[in-house]
Amino acid sequence: MRIVLLGAPGSGKGTQAKRLMQERGVSHISTGDMLRAAAEAGSRFGQQAKDVMDAGQLVSDTLMLGIISERLAEPDAQTGFILDGFPRTRKQALDLDGLLQASSQSLDAAVLMNLDFEVLIRRLTGRRTCSITGRLLNIYFSPPEELEECINSGGELLQREDDNEETIRYRLDVYRQQTEPLIDFYQEQNKLKIVNAEGKIDEVYSRLLAILK
Ligand code: AMP
Repeated sequence: MRIVLLGAPGSGKGTQAKRLMQERGVSHISTGDMLRAAAEAGSRFGQQAKDVMDAGQLVSDTLMLGIISERLAEPDAQTGFILDGFPRTRKQALDLDGLLQASSQSLDAAVLMNLDFEVLIRRLTGRRTCSITGRLLNIYFSPPEELEECINSGGELLQREDDNEETIRYRLDVYRQQTEPLIDFYQEQNKLKIVNAEGKIDEVYSRLLAILK
């Protein structure tokens, strides 16, 4: 399985990709996670990436090509992958096609996680990670007992630095301008599949599996 998950920030790409990885053993490649890890490691590149991410902007296409070409060359990616957060621009999509062609591979599908704008805002502003378990939660949508479980076990509900309302609106604008055109790009390649990303994680996951069959 070689797929790209397309969709605005907050559409659930990461959550669904993690589950596909757990249940199908396909490598989950999240460029956002890779950049956050670099930022945490504190290298000069990491610090630069952090500044760009905190501002809600995109890291340059040239840098992203370097990152993704190295990652796709790793052994686990040879049998398949789920790309989450890449490509985000037309240039990145063309670069990805070039990289795959060079190794005689191709994408099976680009899956758009489709979600209403207002739901996106609530998902993003409510998004938290439990500091102990690393579990993704949402103060608006998660069952209260899951939120309490984290707090009662001494954990904190952490918010990503780029999940404040101002940066969220900016990131959604960037998505509309730079990433949304990829919907047509993959439609023209006959690779586009659309999943209704509204509702419970399990429901969305079932729809995703059905579409990937
Ligand atoms: P994400 O976790 O996918 O929402 O990504 C968080 C941030 O990382 C984005 O807002 C960008 O600043 C950066 N980022 C992640 N993937 C890419 C990409 N493919 N191209 C450019 N910037 C990216």
